Amino acid sequence: SAGDLKILLLENVNQTALDIFAQQGYQVEFLKTSLPEDELIEKIKDVHAIGIRSKTRLTENVLKHAKNLVAIGCFCIGTNQVDLEYAAKNGIAVFNSPFSNSRSVAELTIAEIISLSRELGDRNMELHNGTWNKKSARCWEVRGKTLGIVGYGHIGSQLSVLAEALGMNVLYYDVLMIMSLGNSKQVSSLQELLNNSDFVTLHVPETSDTKQMISTPQLAEMRDGAYLINNSRGTVVDLPALIEALKIGKLAGACIDVFPKEPRANGPYFNGDDLLPFIDDLKTLKNVILTPHIGGSTEEAQSAIGIEVGTVLTKYLNEGASIGAVNFPEVALRALDLDQENVCRILYIHQNVPGVLKTVNQILSEYNIEKQFSDSRGDIAYLMADVSGVNHDDIKNLSAELEATPFNVSTRLLY
Ligand code: NAD
Repeated sequence: SAGDLKILLLENVNQTALDIFAQQGYQVEFLKTSLPEDELIEKIKDVHAIGIRSKTRLTENVLKHAKNLVAIGCFCIGTNQVDLEYAAKNGIAVFNSPFSNSRSVAELTIAEIISLSRELGDRNMELHNGTWNKKSARCWEVRGKTLGIVGYGHIGSQLSVLAEALGMNVLYYDVLMIMSLGNSKQVSSLQELLNNSDFVTLHVPETSDTKQMISTPQLAEMRDGAYLINNSRGTVVDLPALIEALKIGKLAGACIDVFPKEPRANGPYFNGDDLLPFIDDLKTLKNVILTPHIGGSTEEAQSAIGIEVGTVLTKYLNEGASIGAVNFPEVALRALDLDQENVCRILYIHQNVPGVLKTVNQILSEYNIEKQFSDSRGDIAYLMADVSGVNHDDIKNLSAELEATPFNVSTRLLY
């Protein structure tokens, strides 16, 4: 029952999610920070679901201790902090929030485009430090300039609309062919985008293809005096190469919101700290705006994420619906009224191999299957079936028989 379900929430996930879980009657443990690996392993042992943000690393080493875990909720966009494949193979569905904070990132990027163009960061710092430095040389309006967007997904496309409203021309490069919004134009190569943009902004996911996507050769392809913005992931830009391009004046400025490694918690960082590599060099450069991974950090985005992930986790725990899972077959049936007598819903996660349905239907054949749906993704498949004409003993037997099949990864029965 709902009251037996235990959820561990780390990294101060939004109150909206806590409210949703409280309403369900789940047992919730809420922590404001992430946990070091040994403490995480201790706590994850008996929870059914865990909610994290970007700092908690759910590696195989951690997940292998999570014997009761059925779902992971990433209260953020990125899911690279979780070993998705290991999770799937062990029947753990992973959910995220694909676009709750897209608008926030797009708005921050607009602010940065204007800030770079007007050297706002430097003027602000100078005046804070006692220097009046009124100047117009190499400060520009953004109207009529060209913005090059790399990755035209949720954020990139939203940004495109906002930038055009400021009178900018928009080019974009994406591995997919994507319909252009407004007057924006898709270009066919990264090089074409770099050659023709005054501002280049990165909105691609972290993948093996995007690793160090912007390094010395790409920076050389950029226009002299252009600007670079990285609000995507720290691995996408080769920071020493960027530092060099800024030092020699090839680029006129940059904004960096994401780093190859980032501190776990707020507070002072130390010079040369491994957790914030290259920061000492970046700090010395002109017109470089550094922010602590705040692209999606607004009240609106956090509350929307809490609702979005809280809702999909609840649906998965209560109904087995896996729509929106990032590592897992997406399966759903209309909600089952569990107050009815003699019905149960079977959630059978199994290896995707020949012969499974034959075996399963043999087991179910004594009962009336009201609905059944299954789907697979890679090595893992997920079957959901609503069965009627079952009493308490039948349910126990069904559960034991399904668990005993050689293909079983994990079996849950809702009744
Ligand atoms: P998305 O998946 O909607 O869009 C990404 C786009 O990049 C897709 O259109 C995809 O086809 C394209 N793409 C993938 N690989 C590419 C490649 N090698 N070259 C060119 N295009 C490629 O993602 P989104 O919601 O727009 O978010 C983009 C990234 O921004 C996220 O992956 C996340 O890492 C980052 N992000 C950062 C913050 C922050 O706080 N700074 C907040 C939210 C998201």
